[in-house]
This record gives sequence, structure tokens and C-alpha cells, in this order.
Amino acid sequence: GLPAHVSVRVAPLTSRLVIVLALDRTDQQRVENIRRDFVANVSHELKTPVGALNLLAEAVAEAKDDPESVVRFASRMQTESERLTRLVQQIIDLSRLQNDVASDDATTVKVDELVAEACEHSATESERKRIEISRTVEPDLLVHGDRAQLHAAVSNLVENAVTYSPEGSRVVVTAALAGDDVRISVADNGIGIAGPELERIFERFYRVDPARARATGGTGLGLSIVKHVAASNGGTVDVWSEPGAGSTFTLVLPRFQHDLDEEIL
Ligand code: ADP
Repeated sequence: GLPAHVSVRVAPLTSRLVIVLALDRTDQQRVENIRRDFVANVSHELKTPVGALNLLAEAVAEAKDDPESVVRFASRMQTESERLTRLVQQIIDLSRLQNDVASDDATTVKVDELVAEACEHSATESERKRIEISRTVEPDLLVHGDRAQLHAAVSNLVENAVTYSPEGSRVVVTAALAGDDVRISVADNGIGIAGPELERIFERFYRVDPARARATGGTGLGLSIVKHVAASNGGTVDVWSEPGAGSTFTLVLPRFQHDLDEEIL
């Protein structure tokens, strides 16, 4: 597959002069810029649903004599607050990952369970779109890592596959041993991603089509969470994609060898 290398974004550069200065900055300053950029993005992203909720609350108050409108506005308020909840949760997940907080929670994780739970997570949406999720998982595969993090990562990949695929299509999830690694792949026949965008999808808040992402509730944080989970559990993530043909995301994690571990004990 095509390795997707993650280029971390520096603060928005507005002029050539700024670019030259930015290139001269020390690593520490660059990290500081990334942090400031992230904070700016977070506040911008939070303001959108909060602003929408405000307007909708006003609309409800004004439409109090029109029950149908009240119901419609209330349902949109629910959509916006779900979006806000998801956004806040993902921001928390991401900052935990960046601070390496949950690394004490490493356990032995069964890959078949991980995959089954990830598919279950998207069951309602895949049924709604009549998307069949097929699973081919080698038995007895184990990895060692933070269960909640790994669950979030695989679930995100399956969720994206379902979100960015047409109704009636197929999503194929496989997990297999390759040398000392476990490769968990999620393949779809969806819209795919073009080369220039492929390099950016692991960046925080990056969405290929922000308008569409808004409609589907996308935050642009999912893949950056996947990337950080892979890294903090000793693995990697890569992607192959072709516009119009589909995408395959592969999470590669070191296998956990039970036999070896027992010998040591
Ligand atoms: P989002 O919450 O928007 O899905 P992600 O970080 O998970 O955020 O993904 C970033 C962007 O990458 C998405 O907005 C979408 O444009 C693109 N993308 C992710 N997964 C897929 C996929 N399986 N097929 C096509 N595009 C995808």
C-alpha cells in the first residue's frame, strides 16, 4: 500500500516573509505553533455547533405557537448537541493521547473481539445504508495495548468506511498475521481520496469535503486519533486509496506472543 506520511501542520502562513521566518524557527517554537494552531481550531470548531444551538433556541422560542416548527427545530438541536458531544469527546481523547496519559492501561487484547466490537459500533448505520460488513479474522491473534484506545481506532476506521461508501456497497475487515505484526485492514468501495488530500487526512480537523463532513457529523479528528493510537501502541497506520474505487486503511500492531510470555513466566 501507499504509506501515508503525516506532515504536521505549522501555523497558517500568510506571506512569504512568514514562511521564511517559520522555517528558521526552532523545534520548540514549532511545537508551540502547532499547539496554538490546535487551540484556534478547537475554538473555531466548538463555536459552530454552539452558535447553531443558540440560533435554534431562539427559533424555538419564536415558533412557540407552531408545534410542527418547534419539533423540527428541537430535532436539529439534538443533531447539533450530538455533534458537540462527539467533538468534545474526540478532543479529550486526542489530548489524552498526546500527553501519553492512558499508557498504564495496557493489557492483552484479542483481535477478533476488537474487530467484532468495531463492526458492532457501526451496525445501525451500516444496516440503514444496506452495507454488508464482512469479517475475515485469523483466530487467536493477540496484541498488547490500551483496549479503549485500540477500540476507538478500529471503530473509527470502520465508521469512516461506512460513512464514505454508497448504499448497498461492501466493507471488508480482515485481520491477519504478517511476520511479527498483526495487520487489521478495513477496505471499502466508497468515494476514495485523491493523492494530495491523502497526505493530509491524518491531520487534526482536516476534512476533504467540510460541507459534506458537516452533514455526516464528521469532525476531522477521527484519523488523527487513529494515528496517535497506532503510535502509542507501537504500531503504524497506512492507507491505499483511489478516487471512485475505494480506500483501504491498515492498522499494523506488534503481535503479542502468548507462548513466549508463558515461557518467561
Ligand atoms: P471525519 O470525522 O471527517 O470522518 P476523519 O479524521 O476520520 O474525520 O477523516 C478525515 C477525512 O478523511 C474525512 O473527512 C474524509 O474526507 C476522509 N476519509 C476518511 N476515511 C475515508 C474513507 N474510508 N473513504 C473516503 N474518505 C475518507
